[in-house]
Amino acid sequence: MLVEESNSHFSTIGFSNNFISFDEASKCTNGTIFDIVGILVDIKPSMGEGSKKRREIVVDRKTVTLWNDFSEIDGQVLQKLIDEKPVVAACDVRKTSYRGNFSISTTYISSIMINPKFEKAVALQKWHDYKKAKNIDISLLPSIQLKNAREVKIEDIKDDSFDNKEDTYFKFNARIKDIMNKDEPWYSSCKKCYKKVDVINNIAKCHRCGVENVDYQEKYILKLEVFDKKERCYVTLFESTRYLLGCDVTTYIQSISQKKEESKFYRKLVLSREKEFTFLVKIDSKNGGDRDGRRFIAEEIQEVEKIAAIEIDEEIQTETGIKKTKKVEEDINNPIICKKSQN
Ligand SMILES: [Zn+2]
Repeated sequence: MLVEESNSHFSTIGFSNNFISFDEASKCTNGTIFDIVGILVDIKPSMGEGSKKRREIVVDRKTVTLWNDFSEIDGQVLQKLIDEKPVVAACDVRKTSYRGNFSISTTYISSIMINPKFEKAVALQKWHDYKKAKNIDISLLPSIQLKNAREVKIEDIKDDSFDNKEDTYFKFNARIKDIMNKDEPWYSSCKKCYKKVDVINNIAKCHRCGVENVDYQEKYILKLEVFDKKERCYVTLFESTRYLLGCDVTTYIQSISQKKEESKFYRKLVLSREKEFTFLVKIDSKNGGDRDGRRFIAEEIQEVEKIAAIEIDEEIQTETGIKKTKKVEEDINNPIICKKSQN
């Protein structure tokens, strides 16, 4: 394992062009080993014990699972740097799939570099600086899933008869009719099992763990009633609420602690009514069985008008050469390896 801090001078000529973006990785076959580069936007707490020890980091809004030593050593280094959102390059990582989600895992031969100096990483850093200067939080930009998801209408997916053998992600456009819990879009969650706890006089009881006075944290939950031209349905947002409000739950609660009308986040919430959004929902066979036809969990929400504005913005950047992407050529005869193809 290798953790390279910013000012290393080793030669990267010859492999720097083989680093691919997350967008490109999403098109690779499961099991493919590749080198990837992106911006670290979030890091989760460590989980598991022994050889199952792991830690998830979010790079370009995609999850990368760091296993074993990577979770402990690299995880700690990344934790310290999370506020500056460094560029992270990971070599020899594997594409995996979990319930239809594409994700990435470290392997025994992986290595991780932080703020490396090869061309693509530097271009990415510039792109990030550009966004930062415009006050844009890159972790709230539309994701690859949202871009690639099949577009449907509410009426297409609300029936149990809806057939989805292949796709898992769908998106639909709808306007927000009502915000069911606008005064308290969060709940107290047990830190162990993530279930809702009852808090009375600052003491939390988790019914699932059967423990009194458990550690808990606030987590977003936002319930919306939405409609398109033909149908209406209910949508629940959990962590994805931050896409709508533009901040994490702690910041949100703090912002409304005095006078909520003065919170820009609260105003954003209230003003979202009647506006049109794109909702990203995941429907697989399991969720399909649970859903009662008109209630969906959205993994992302983006204002329709803003998606269009962002796309134009990205095009301008590509033209001016701030961000260049390279198309991955997949070798059909050898789909397991798509790295280090010299050109
Ligand atoms: Zn619990």
